[in-house]
This record gives sequence, structure tokens and C-alpha cells, in this order.
Amino acid sequence: MPPANRNEPRRARSSSSDYSVTEFLRDFPDDAACLDYLWRTRHSADGEHAHCPKCDCERVFRRYATKQQRQSWTCTACGHHVHPTAGTIFHRSSTSLRLWFHAMYLMTSTRCGISAKQLERELGVHYKTAWRMFNRIRTELMNDEDEPQLRGEVEIDETSWGGRPRRPIKDRRERAMWRENRTTVLGMIERGGRVRLRVIESRRGEPLSRAVRTHVNPSAFMLTDDWPAYKPLRREYDWAVINHSAGIYVEGNVHTNTIEGFFGNLKTGMRGAYKHVSDKYLQSYLDEFAWRHNHRHAGYRSMFHELVGEAARQ
Ligand SMILES: [Zn+2]
Repeated sequence: MPPANRNEPRRARSSSSDYSVTEFLRDFPDDAACLDYLWRTRHSADGEHAHCPKCDCERVFRRYATKQQRQSWTCTACGHHVHPTAGTIFHRSSTSLRLWFHAMYLMTSTRCGISAKQLERELGVHYKTAWRMFNRIRTELMNDEDEPQLRGEVEIDETSWGGRPRRPIKDRRERAMWRENRTTVLGMIERGGRVRLRVIESRRGEPLSRAVRTHVNPSAFMLTDDWPAYKPLRREYDWAVINHSAGIYVEGNVHTNTIEGFFGNLKTGMRGAYKHVSDKYLQSYLDEFAWRHNHRHAGYRSMFHELVGEAARQ
């Protein structure tokens, strides 16, 4: 094992991770280290002073050893307990903090995600426990419902979800019908920036335009293909259309290659990591994928801290 000092040579840029599992385990060797991290991020920068809600001022807090090994710090003036996990997904969880942190480490140190099956193998937890942890991390920490709207040049496209047709469908009408019965995912991506993915009820009309209005700022410049459902939005956004149905895919700066490329990676990545995702949970998997894309510049170490920080902000 490498020595625990900060002067280790930096890992090569091409390395797939800049936060090795060795480093992670050194930072968070046990439940106490994870709890201390939450205490310091949520309540006490120096680990000793914190605001006591009961005294309504800053006090010295201590962690007293108790028989049940209480997960709290105590105000030395009034005896009030502060629980660093209160209000987070970790609170009253029968799964240990160390496992939660490890699950978040694994989710932020892979390019395409990790399945509950893999987590079961790596951490030796039951499959159901692993799945439940992942599901809560996805739905509660990675959802982008409150993120600011997309701006700038935004490419928008829809894609069908749920496998390919069993045989190639030549007939145009038949192909359209097949597509009609698939789940539709709407993708909106800022060129060089963030992505937003949404499962929508239908690729036509209101559900599609409603999703665009919710997630794309009116100041944005929209780029889409000539699918008719985008038409009502023409009055509300500056807009360029690429005429896919006439076989044109790029016209100068006008194309939807960014979002189409993203869909390609998304499908390959999801197939690789998860095999099959049911419609019920699809949105949360999309959120995870988008979250990773939107934090891609941060590097794995800060992605991990970002995610734990999200839990601490709850
Ligand atoms: Zn107090």
C-alpha cells in the first residue's frame, strides 16, 4: 500500500480514475470517519464548535462515548444532541454509513455506472440492500428537478427506448407504429455543457413541448430536426431546424449530432451496466447518467465529494 502522504506522484491524466479505492478507504476507513465527515460538512467546520439550536448560539460540542454508541454530538452547555445524519438518506438506515459512502464512491468512479449485482459482489451486501441504496442515491441525490434551465445553443431530440425491433421493419407506417408503442426519452443538451433527459408520455404534442418549456430557458437557441411536434415552440424560441426527412444531417452549424451522439453513448453504457431497466425506474437511471455527464469536468474525487455534499445538504 502506498504511504499516506500528499506527495505521491500524481496519477497520469489518462488514468481512468483520479481517486483510487486505496485513497478512498484511507479517507473513509470506517463508520466513524464517515460520521465525522458529515458532522464537519453539515455543522462544524472545525469539528468542535457548532450552532446549538437550543442555546441559539455557538457552543462547544463533544461526542460522548455511550453504551449504544450514539451517533450524535452533545452541546456542552445544555446537553442538546445534534445528529449529523438527521434528514439525510443515511438516517435510521440499517445499512452502515461506510457502505453508503462506498456505494457513492463506486457510482462516481465509473464512466457508465455500476449495477446492484456488482455492488453485491464488491461489498458483500445483499442484492436487495445494494439495489435499494442505489435507487435512493439516484432518485434523491442525482435528480436534477431543481437545476437551472438549459441555456445557449440547445440541441433537442427524442429517442425510443426499449430494445430494437425483432426484425428490421421496412414499411414506414409499420415502423412509426412500432415506435409509437415504445417509451420515449427526450434529450436536451447544451453544446459544450449540461444535459437533461426526460421520459415523456408521448413524442407528440403537449408532453413534448411541456418538457422543453420546463427545461429550456426562453433565451436559448434551439436546434432540432423537422419532427412536427416541435412546431408549436417555434413562436417561443429562436430556432434552427435540420431537415432530417429530406436526408440532410448537417448544414454548417445546424445539426443535432451532439444529442444523437449522447444517446448513442447512453444506450451503450446502460446496456453494458444494467442489461434491462424497467420503465418504472428508467427516469432515475437517466438522472444518474445525466448527473455524471454534468459533473464530468470535476474529476472523480470532486464528483464523489459533490455527491456526498448533496446528501449533506438535504
Ligand atoms: Zn446548547
